Amino acid sequence: MRRFSGKTVVITGGNRGIGFAVAERFASEGARLVIASVEPQVEDAAARLREAGAQAVGMVCDVTDRAAVMALYDRAEEEFGSVDISMQNAGIITIAKVEDLTEDMWDATMAVNTKGVFLCCQEAIRRMRKSGRGGRLINTASGQARDGFIFTPHYAASKMGVVGITQSLAKEVALENITVNAICPGIIHSDMWDYNDRIWGAMLGDYAPGALMAEWIETKIPMKRAGTGADVAGLVTFLASEDAAYITGQTINVDGGLIMS
Ligand code: NDP
Repeated sequence: MRRFSGKTVVITGGNRGIGFAVAERFASEGARLVIASVEPQVEDAAARLREAGAQAVGMVCDVTDRAAVMALYDRAEEEFGSVDISMQNAGIITIAKVEDLTEDMWDATMAVNTKGVFLCCQEAIRRMRKSGRGGRLINTASGQARDGFIFTPHYAASKMGVVGITQSLAKEVALENITVNAICPGIIHSDMWDYNDRIWGAMLGDYAPGALMAEWIETKIPMKRAGTGADVAGLVTFLASEDAAYITGQTINVDGGLIMS
């Protein structure tokens, strides 16, 4: 079954990590993809999707730049005629003790993780409303939207903000066949988690690379494994599907049981 034939999906942070895994899954189910990231390597990632048989374009877009975000959604409409599903997934993290956390770190994190999610939702909703076709928005929050981890108050605040955006917009568009939901990945294999493992590992003890992740998997995750992009893609494609038509304003964990609230 190809659940997303004829649908256009925009994914920010779609060139690698969780975003690319989600793009691959949508592509395998017939969707047309527009993936975005700050680095031009996004074109290579789109080429990989095309080689696998998908209709896909890559576009450089800094989600903190409103004009660039508008251009991204313009491009999706120009290439494929509509925007049906939009995953606001671009994100950054830094880790620092409270005295070392600079205003620049705070501002950059809020700009990408929170304002960037809002700007993309705004453009996606504008186009979904205009088309009258409804749509699906999925915002990438984090386990840190549930429970702030140590040394990352700015990241936790930015992801809790994503939940607020999700709930508020879900109420505004509820009568327009547009749903807005958030996902909370736990510990997922990616470049970001490699950074987390290294920096938290150094700050929380003398951990060798991979050792902190191994300890947390063993002691904190009931399913005793880290997640994969494919695990996240399963949830995202469900939320984007017709089966999730009556689910909106929700924040759903995908974390092997790491957080149960
Ligand atoms: P990666 O670091 O592997 O990828 C981050 C992605 O975000 C890249 O595609 C990057 O693009 C893009 N990006 C960063 N800044 C911008 C920007 N200003 N404009 C556009 N794109 C940008 O991270 P993950 O795949 O692990 O994370 C994806 C999302 O999941 C993030 O929101 C993250 O916070 C969240 N998350 C991840 C968890 C994990 O364990 N991995 C856990 C919980 C949440 P480029 O390649 O061009 O830099």
